[in-house]
Formats: sequence, C-alpha cells, structure tokens
Amino acid sequence: MRCSAAERSWAAGRAKPHAIFGSPPAAARGLTVPNRGGIDLGGTKIQAAIVDERHRVLGQARRPTPTSGGPPDVKDAMAAALAEAAAAAGVETASLAGIGVGSPGEVDARTGAVAQARNLPGWEDPYPLAAELSAATGAPVALGNDVQVATDAEFTLGAGKPYRSLLGVFWGTGVGGGIVLDGKPWLGRGAAGEIGHMVVKRKGARCPCGRRGCMEAYAGRAAMEAKARREVAKGAKTKLFEIMEKRGRTRLTSGIWARAIAHEDDLALKLIDRAIAALGAGVASACNLLDPEAVVIGGGLGVRFGQPYVERIEAAMGPHLFASEHPPAVHLASLGDLGGAIGAALLVRKSARARSGDGAQAAG
Ligand SMILES: [Zn+2]
Repeated sequence: MRCSAAERSWAAGRAKPHAIFGSPPAAARGLTVPNRGGIDLGGTKIQAAIVDERHRVLGQARRPTPTSGGPPDVKDAMAAALAEAAAAAGVETASLAGIGVGSPGEVDARTGAVAQARNLPGWEDPYPLAAELSAATGAPVALGNDVQVATDAEFTLGAGKPYRSLLGVFWGTGVGGGIVLDGKPWLGRGAAGEIGHMVVKRKGARCPCGRRGCMEAYAGRAAMEAKARREVAKGAKTKLFEIMEKRGRTRLTSGIWARAIAHEDDLALKLIDRAIAALGAGVASACNLLDPEAVVIGGGLGVRFGQPYVERIEAAMGPHLFASEHPPAVHLASLGDLGGAIGAALLVRKSARARSGDGAQAAG
C-alpha cells in the first residue's frame, strides 16, 4: 500500500519491540485483563474496534479519514471513532488496557511518531501520534505498520492460523503484502512485503510509485481508476463514474467496482480481468521465492469481491507457479474489514510484553 522509496524507512518501527505511550490504567497494572482498542488508520476510512481478552469485538465504529487539515485533525477523528466504538461496547476509553494503531507511512514505534503518511492530509513531518492519541483518549497507545498488523491478525486469529508460513496480500487502493516465515514476521530491513511492486511487465504501465510494470500499476484501485479515466477520455463507455456520482463519491471505491461488475460493465470487467492477471503473476512469483504454506487475500477489493475472486486469483497464479504440484493454499482473509483494527489491538499485548521484558520505552 506504500509506494515511494521515501516511505520505506520504517525499519526502526517494524524491527524493534513496540513501545507503548502513556500510563497504563490501574486495571492494566492488576491481574485482570481488560479490554483493548484497535484502530486501522486508512487513507479513506478510520476503523476502530474494542476487543476483549479473547479478541472478540465488543463494539466498533467507522469514520471517513479527514481529507483536509493535518495530523491533529486525523488524530481527533481517530479519538472520535474510538470513543464511538467504546460507547457501543459500553466502556470508557480511559479504562482500556491500551490502544493499538495500524498506520500507513513511516511508523517509528520507538518514538511513537508517524511521518510521510502520503494518503493522509498534510502528513509529511513526524507527528507524535502515540502521545497525542494517548492524551486524547486517556489510554496508552502502541503503533505498528498497517499491513503488518493486518497480516499478524490473519496469522494469529484468522485464515492463516493453521500455518507456520504465510503471505498476506492486501488488495485495495494499492497492493500491500505481509510475510510470516517460521511463525515470525519477516520484516527484512524494515521494508519487506512490498508485493505491489513486484514487476509483472518490463516497461509496463506506470505505477503510482513512479516505476513501471509493478503489479500495483495493474491491480491497485488507484491505478485502476486512473486507467478507467484515461479510457473514458479516449471515448470508452462505462457506468463506473455514473455510479460514483449517484453515490456522492469522488473516488471509485470497492463498492462502486462491485456494482459496475454486477451490471456487467465492459470497462470494469476488462480492468478487473487485467488486475487479476497481474495479481496471479505477482503473487505466484512471490510464492516461487518464499514457498509459503498459504496466501491470505484481504484488502478493500479482496474483502468486497470475496471467495469467487480469491478463486480467480488462485487460478491466475497456476500457470506461473514453479512447484505447481505443491501450490500454496489460497484463502480469503477471514477477519474481513475488521482485520486491521483487530490486528492493531494485538499490538497492545505485544507492547505490554515488550515493556515488562525490557522495562523501558514508556513515556507520557
Ligand atoms: Zn510500484
């Protein structure tokens, strides 16, 4: 879901134990294991959830991500979404053991800052998100990378649970990837998992990252929309933008693509076929390198299109798989839209462990 080289340096954030910011409430210091909050911070929406000690969702809320202003406005919207989820769960945010956040951009879990979150308004410089959100909610906050926490959620609680190795593919605005090998996340030097930028065609279509021929240049929702606009400018007929206007949207959301496909819109069908062919080649290539037991497909488009499209991607992978007699299992992400928020809530447990382990990194 990230593209540019400038957005790749969350090495510190992903490689070190997660720090937690703010003082744990009294309940968290005692023997009871209270509820946790999780927030999935996306470019279009903020999804918040409250989970209990068995990861069951007690309450949830969703808000649009602010499109103007700056990091403090986004932080306010996150606090509001969490408060709404807490109200639905019948708890106070200040009573939570902690709040985990899955964030785009450069996440420095050590300092609790996020920088270069390009899909978020005015968010280039580091902003102390963990400390500010902790002040707004009264609970400690832990940060992680959005794709990594979603992969961890599927591995720990979802479709990846039976396996020791896993490739998470998040098909949405971009195409993000998360890797688990031998039961542990593989982070590389911090930028591993950029499956969207596997090259599926040399000198191919221009990717939002600026390079050419990346899988995301064909399969990412942003690139698909740009292609649809170019085709319309050349005279192609489609219902995509008509549906978008009717729904009062300014972007082609996953729901709009799904509706156009249900209407057998020629351009939408053509662009989805192109996306699936690219996903087949790119995901199979990653499997040829890593040989994971399973692939889990999530993300906005993945979850919206569901099982039939997971099967189409699996079929498109077939011809490109080297060890074709032992293909990986391919599953739909079982936590759906809430995977990111549930995965973020898992950070609280990890942070608490990291803190009790090294006794450091608490601030606020
Ligand atoms: Zn790219």
